[in-house]
Amino acid sequence: MKILNTQDKLYLLETIRDIPDFPKPGIVFKDITTLLNNPKAFRFLMDHLHQRYKEMDIDFVAGIDSRGFIFGAALADRLEKGFVPIRKQGKLPYTTIGEKYSLEYGFDEIEIHIDAFKSDKEKPNVLLIDDLIATGGTAKAAASLIEKSGAHCIEACFILNLTFLHGDEGLKDITKVYSVLEID
Ligand code: AMP
Repeated sequence: MKILNTQDKLYLLETIRDIPDFPKPGIVFKDITTLLNNPKAFRFLMDHLHQRYKEMDIDFVAGIDSRGFIFGAALADRLEKGFVPIRKQGKLPYTTIGEKYSLEYGFDEIEIHIDAFKSDKEKPNVLLIDDLIATGGTAKAAASLIEKSGAHCIEACFILNLTFLHGDEGLKDITKVYSVLEID
């Protein structure tokens, strides 16, 4: 289904488990492993993403470390496009380019391989995907990194958006944002 109705969204939302106080007190962790091990729900979600993106001019799907790899790789396979992992600093074996971003305390860095978006096109289109957007720091750094590497981030896609944190606001300056499910 290209567009999900309220019932579809409730169905998917109910397959995601809440883990209170993980990884620290006060955080409600949205555990997508319960969606992944429900074959009907996972198929339903992937069918929706495939319907949404199959007619868009996408050259690569880039997933954010680590849960973005699951949805990103499955979608790239369906779209018959290449998959690019955007990884935490120090994990990729070849030459990388990186982008730092702020955390509550200190900073973190994500990286891609320098030749990750190698293409016949001068500026290939990249769909960015992650399981969840919270403050938006990680996704903003990832979209900037895609642009920095000479490709174009055509859209950032999330399974869940914690809208009360307004994480997509800064990201919208860089790329379009699509969230399958929203939690206010
Ligand atoms: P942020 O940079 O604040 O938008 O955080 C996004 C990243 O942290 C994503 O890769 C998420 O997988 C993870 N994350 C942040 N908050 C949560 C949460 N409440 N439940 C599950 N994952 C989260």
